[in-house]
This record gives sequence, structure tokens and C-alpha cells, in this order.
Amino acid sequence: MWRAVALTLFPEMFPGPLGESLAGKALKGGVWSLEAVDIRRFAKDRHGTVDDAPFGGGAGMVMKPDVLSAAIEAVAQPGMPKVLLSPRGAPFSQARGRELAQGPGVVLVCGRFEGVDERVIEAEALEEISVGDFVLSGGEIAAMAVMDCCVRLLPGVMGEPLSANEESFEDGLLEYPHYTRPASWTGPDGTERRVPEVLVSGHHGKVAEWRRTQREEITRQRRPDLWARRKLAKVNDEK
Ligand code: SAH
Repeated sequence: MWRAVALTLFPEMFPGPLGESLAGKALKGGVWSLEAVDIRRFAKDRHGTVDDAPFGGGAGMVMKPDVLSAAIEAVAQPGMPKVLLSPRGAPFSQARGRELAQGPGVVLVCGRFEGVDERVIEAEALEEISVGDFVLSGGEIAAMAVMDCCVRLLPGVMGEPLSANEESFEDGLLEYPHYTRPASWTGPDGTERRVPEVLVSGHHGKVAEWRRTQREEITRQRRPDLWARRKLAKVNDEK
């Protein structure tokens, strides 16, 4: 069973949204397990102190290395990656999610306040992961994003096994546009919009070609960074 362990000051936040829908069903079905461990349990004093003022001064509080390390040591298992959610981490990606999903699980350390004492990152060899170039008030929502990405890749979680491979990012392209019934729809702007003719043509080859062209066009326009990387990868393949 794939195992997710969240170290957090707010264990009651879990499973939260991960208790619903696909991830929730898989959790109840025993495809994966989730433990939310309260960091405060590892506090060294009777007040349950988990943070302290920063050396060198400045605003905010810093999570104490002794307490956090004790919590990590209590849950860590050989072979299980230890991740710290952090805005200065490596950007999380579908590729890293797939790797994590193929392993035994992951320990996710959720920061709060200004962050964690640098020495615990070194001593515990934490892998820092960011979910984007913005600042959250804590690592919990970021940890849930990482878990959700991994869990939907576990065998048996997604309805259709094919669908994961055709998705955004799996091959460096964004997704094509989707349409469903009704075939003709008039929106609040009074304009009638019909679904692209090729999709109702029943011609599978043409549908596939249209979707590929759409993916390329959308990626080129919206994510020139992905598009450039893809072109580079192709050039290297041909070498
Ligand atoms: N002082 C820090 C922000 C701390 S935010 C700074 O300036 O970078 C508090 C906690 O929220 C962090 O320790 C981290 O665990 C989490 N967090 C905030 N933004 C995040 C992001 N983009 N990705 C992952 N975790 C994030």
C-alpha cells in the first residue's frame, strides 16, 4: 500500500479534500494510506513549544530543529523520500509525482510561520518541493496537492488507465479542449457555439490529428517554456 505521512501542526486538516472522490475512494479501499502526525507531540517542554524567534532578529517564528527532527525520525522509513514543502524548493512536476507514486510513499513536512530551521533540512536531507511561485500560509495545502497528484497515478485509482498518459505534461504538451452534449449551445452572451465538426465526424484518425494540433497550438501560445523544452528534447532525440 502506498503510504503518505504528513507532519503538521494541524493534523485535523487531513484528509480534507483527499477524503472525497477518486482519492477518497482509494483511501477507503486501501490503495493508499494517510497518516497526519502532529508535530506538537514531539515538543520537549510541557507547553508544547514547536517554534522560537529567529536568530539575527526579524519578523515571525521559526520551527525548532530538535522538535521537527524528532517527529521526522519517528515516522521515517528507509527508502521513503522525505520532502519539505517550501516556496524555495524545486518546482513540483508530473514527472516527480510519477516517481514518488512508483515508490513506497512519501513523508511530507508541512512548514508554518516563517519556515523551518535550516539545520533540520540538512541533517534530515529533506528534499524541498514548491508547488508554485507564490506563498501559502502553511505546507498543508501544498502537501495535499503533491499527494493528490501521486494518488491518482496509483494502479487502479483512475477509471480509465489510458487517460493518464494523454494528459497535460505527460508528454510535454498541454491538453486539447473537451466538449460534451449538447452539440449546440447558446451561452449568456447570446452566441450559439457548436462543437468542432471533426469531433462528431466519427473519423478517429482525424479526431486524433485535430487533438494533437490543438495541443501543440495551445502549448506554443500559453507555455512557450514547455514548447521550447519539448523542441530541445526532440532535437536531442534525433542526434
Ligand atoms: N518565509 C517564507 C514563507 C513561509 S510560508 C518565505 O518567504 O519563503 C510557511 C510555510 O508554508 C512554508 O514553510 C512552507 O512549508 C509552506 N509553503 C508556502 N508557500 C509554499 C509553496 N509555494 N510551495 C510549497 N510550500 C509552501
